[in-house]
Amino acid sequence: MIMLETVKRVLGQSDRELVVECRQCGSNVDPDAESCPVCESTEIAQYDITR
Ligand SMILES: [Zn+2]
Repeated sequence: MIMLETVKRVLGQSDRELVVECRQCGSNVDPDAESCPVCESTEIAQYDITR
């Protein structure tokens, strides 16, 4: 748990997380990607989760 917190802090994601996934197939997509690498759909959903 301590290690996980350290990783989050390094990544700057201690209190928010950007989840990007394809609406078509549900795959996780890179936030910089404009289309899904799996099915090539451009229907990308972004969820900015604040904790
Ligand atoms: Zn897809």
